[in-house]
Amino acid sequence: MTVLAEKTQVSILVDAGHGGKDPGHLPHNSSGLQEKVLALEIAMKVGNYLTTYLSNVNIEYTRVDDSYPTLDQRVDQANSGQFDLMLSIHINGSPRSEVYGTETLIHNYDSKQSFSWAKLIEQQFKKRAGRKSRGVKTSADLGHSLQILKFTKIPTVIVECGFITNINEAAYLNSIYGQEIIASAIFRATREYLQSTYKSIDFSPPPAVEPTLEPESAVSSEEEEVESYYTVQIMASIDPVNLDIPQFKKLDKPVNRVEVETTSLYKYKYYVGSFASKKEAKTLQKEIQENGFADAFVTYIK
Ligand SMILES: [Zn+2]
Repeated sequence: MTVLAEKTQVSILVDAGHGGKDPGHLPHNSSGLQEKVLALEIAMKVGNYLTTYLSNVNIEYTRVDDSYPTLDQRVDQANSGQFDLMLSIHINGSPRSEVYGTETLIHNYDSKQSFSWAKLIEQQFKKRAGRKSRGVKTSADLGHSLQILKFTKIPTVIVECGFITNINEAAYLNSIYGQEIIASAIFRATREYLQSTYKSIDFSPPPAVEPTLEPESAVSSEEEEVESYYTVQIMASIDPVNLDIPQFKKLDKPVNRVEVETTSLYKYKYYVGSFASKKEAKTLQKEIQENGFADAFVTYIK
């Protein structure tokens, strides 16, 4: 085994639960997606975040489509010697529709690395994503052992991103907004875990991750003088998020979605306000951060 100090890269196996003939938990109504579909959406988004925003992280997937690798195959892949960590994404279900919230599962509390990673994930859900965290759970807590947790030899967590059987949570899980927030929370927790575990590896973002901002509205036509201004960016996404969702409405200010010309996967940026002074923008940033967008920042549009 390589000692941590010699490592120059971390390889993570990202596993979208279920797939193919195994749909996982089923939605409570016909318009909702099955667990296997939601798990794949979120797993791919987390993988994209990790490779887009961190250097020296290698991501592979157990599946990238609606196929069904068996649990044995997933465990074998995790134990192949190529990977340092395994992140498995699932969606929960319960016969009791009032049950909701996130859980991160580990084999047992002796798996210290898995435990600290899992705690960071639940912290992100609770503190930054505004979710109800049901905490870190072990096989003993669940009353049965999960094959993936039991047999993988590398630190492994299973993230249960919410209950598909709860009406409100199912709507959130089915929304692109919800999927983006969940994926970014798992990403931030994983980044924190990597930085504290592999101290010799440089995870700083690859250069040119943040493209020059060129909002469509500011593409200058010859006769129209385009003004520069400060604005608050509240989030970015891979797919366009609808502007009429409650999270945006709560801000009580129009949100401007801009498709940015970029090589990054994050083509959609969301801005609020336009100001001549940075100070005014900072005041709005604070207000927005208190309203659920903790990562909002001020940016200057030319
Ligand atoms: Zn599952």
